[in-house]
Amino acid sequence: MDSETCPVSRYSEPVSAHVSPTDTLGRPLRDLRISVTDRCNFRCVYCMPKEVFGHDYRFLDRKELLTFEELERLVRVFKAHGVEKIRITGGEPLLRRELEVLIAALASVGGLELTLTTNASLLAKKAQALADAGLHRVTVSLDSLDDETFRAMNDVDFSVERVLEGIEAAAAAGLPVKVNAVIKRGMNEAAVLEMARYFKGTPHVLRFIEYMDVGATNGWRLDDVVPAAEIVRTIDEVFPIEPIDRSYRGEVAQRWRYRDGSGELGLITSVTQPFCGDCTRARISAEGKLYTCLFGVRGHDLRALVRSGATDEELGAVVAGIWSKRTDRYSERRSESTADLPKVEMSYIGG
Ligand code: SAM
Repeated sequence: MDSETCPVSRYSEPVSAHVSPTDTLGRPLRDLRISVTDRCNFRCVYCMPKEVFGHDYRFLDRKELLTFEELERLVRVFKAHGVEKIRITGGEPLLRRELEVLIAALASVGGLELTLTTNASLLAKKAQALADAGLHRVTVSLDSLDDETFRAMNDVDFSVERVLEGIEAAAAAGLPVKVNAVIKRGMNEAAVLEMARYFKGTPHVLRFIEYMDVGATNGWRLDDVVPAAEIVRTIDEVFPIEPIDRSYRGEVAQRWRYRDGSGELGLITSVTQPFCGDCTRARISAEGKLYTCLFGVRGHDLRALVRSGATDEELGAVVAGIWSKRTDRYSERRSESTADLPKVEMSYIGG
């Protein structure tokens, strides 16, 4: 169903409030990550390697993507079932034309924290429009400040400087910025200290992410993971840091602060210290499949339901039913029997 066939009255009516479902491990539904495109203009070697995502790779057609109207409707349904925070991601979400129109539509729902994860390649151009539309904050992915290393990692010769311009544009538009860096052994370990030094004392919160075994195309090996404990040690030796409490249940990053009061940083430890027990996140792929884990194997087709005329009540019942049966704790079981399971790509499901 698109804007022409989806009557406005359908989703302009408030969706009646329901009790937020909890899953089989007692975890409530609080966060929704929405991938708005499976395309990206970067070919990060650990995420969308060129050999796999080359010219003949078949990305989704436009008509396969959920429309903005469909997304707004789904978000209203998810909000009625407990979701408080929306993260727009991809692929590269800013490749989706007029993304600010979607942000404005989601802002009109009210009562939701709206965030965006981006490689910042188009952020300098888009930041003000996104802020004006009602975006609350932005997370920028940047894996190194060393131009040669960064260009080698994004594999499309994109410069560090242009990402930094995007960050500054977001800040100038009033958007709080977090900067996420994935650290891969033998590739960008030097980024740990360089980036800590650069962002220390700025309002931007730097977060290091352990390299994860998402998807099947990046040839992940445990040896490539730089454990968060090692990252902490590296920083602490030069800039002493201390842990601080998480601000809410389900927060993905462990928080640390510089002892000299010059700000905080985060560690996302999904490999060495998995946090499945607190995971309150659902994900919708660009074509409208609902996943209850980043490492999900099978999604539930919400688009088919939406396009076949399901009511909000019916959609809500499906979402609540899926969530209440949720058993996922992939990261905690990583070493058991998961190695051979087929997994979806991060670019498809949304990071
Ligand atoms: N294009 C946007 C961006 O660059 O932020 C959003 C999508 S991207 C898939 C989201 C995040 O996932 C990026 O920070 C990226 O570095 C991270 N990522 C991708 N593959 C990863 C992996 N195997 N392990 C850890 N993080 C990964």
